[in-house]
Amino acid sequence: MVYSENELVFCVNCKKEIENIKKQGVMTKEELLLVKHPQKVFQVNYPIKKDDGTIEIITAYRVQYNLNLGPGKGGIRFHQDVDLDEVSELAFGMMLKTSVTDLPFGGAKGGVRINPKNYSKSELEKISRGYVRELFNAVGPTKDVPAPDVNTNPQIMSWMLDEYEKIAGEKSPAFITGKPISDGGSEGRDKSTAMGGFYILGEEYADVEDKSSICVAIQGFGNAGSVMAELLYNDGYKVVAISDSSCALYDKNGLNIPKILEKTYKDGSKIARLDSLDLEKITNEELLELDVDLLVPAALGGVINSQNADNIKAPIVLELANGPVLPDAEQILEAKGTRIIPGLIANSGGVIVSYFEWDQNLKGEHWTLEEVNTKLKDRIIGAFSKIKDLAQKENLSLRKAANKIAIKRVIDKADIN
Ligand code: NAD
Repeated sequence: MVYSENELVFCVNCKKEIENIKKQGVMTKEELLLVKHPQKVFQVNYPIKKDDGTIEIITAYRVQYNLNLGPGKGGIRFHQDVDLDEVSELAFGMMLKTSVTDLPFGGAKGGVRINPKNYSKSELEKISRGYVRELFNAVGPTKDVPAPDVNTNPQIMSWMLDEYEKIAGEKSPAFITGKPISDGGSEGRDKSTAMGGFYILGEEYADVEDKSSICVAIQGFGNAGSVMAELLYNDGYKVVAISDSSCALYDKNGLNIPKILEKTYKDGSKIARLDSLDLEKITNEELLELDVDLLVPAALGGVINSQNADNIKAPIVLELANGPVLPDAEQILEAKGTRIIPGLIANSGGVIVSYFEWDQNLKGEHWTLEEVNTKLKDRIIGAFSKIKDLAQKENLSLRKAANKIAIKRVIDKADIN
């Protein structure tokens, strides 16, 4: 195979992520060559009959970016803009995440190109079942294990599992994760992403006796951000700012998170937005620039960029969201000594507990919440320690060290004839 330094054009485009890692200098030419293409790419187009009797063709994707470490693992998102490039990019990210956390999985991702708001429940069920029928031969407990992602949920996983088991003619709960507990889902999956990040912070601040001396701002109050706020509050940290898409709340003496949760979000379902509360409001932009000890972006990608990086004062940023710090902002932050705990490890709690769900299903077990959290803590702290050790040994940022470990593990298992 001929490799050219400038040959970064792919049939399926995963340029951005690979370019970023390439710039970090943590990949050799040979490693780059081995990960620059997704291994398996599927596009399917299938008809469903809508409630009004009309027929619609649904376009959907599954990309198994790399299967060197085991079956593919990655969510399925329902979104009107989803395309092969995006799914491929996300599958590449999953490959790095499963690798750095030492899971026996490769990286995969799926997408269905629809706006779910435009479909009834029964139409969504047909779309979900159709996805599994079309991709049945490519997925399965030992081939590729899907999970929820943007706009998909335990109900959709449940329909997909049912369809898979009907075709397979046998019970096969390990086919998919993020299921309802009644279908073989795991305890702790709902809070696992924040829980993983929380354990990492426990390591970061292991020497701090009085956690109330640590002021925290959290952007995003959804599944990841609100759980993180609650965990930190209960552990004694001073959470001074939180936000959702409506506004940010600020109290320099610390917010009463349980009270806010009581008034806004119950059992994970949003019943009011933060701007409905009678508390001091600031903007989301101001929240990011607060003079705090710890900043946790837990909403959108790209919120810390070249425009605001100079104004970020927190010495530690924990990426609970995917990609909140853009590469050009990272350079600015690095130059002033900000420690960025990359999403690859910081938000990997979700995929780790997905792995536990698959493992329990294969063994016919159901672990207690305590067992799940103990195992999560061991695994995420173990992976984080390896990243820190390499970063220190080779004088790398945590992100570069994480990427280097992830790529190496994938390449070491490459099957080259
Ligand atoms: P979510 O939809 O439950 O919550 C998102 C939150 O962000 C909401 O509170 C929303 O109001 C807020 N938000 C939206 N736009 C905003 C804006 N412009 N400014 C401030 N806040 C805004 O999503 P989630 O599951 O909590 O995921 C949040 C991030 O974490 C995403 O980047 C996601 O990819 C990442 N992540 C989540 C998981 C998981 O298991 N939930 C796992 C890994 C990574």
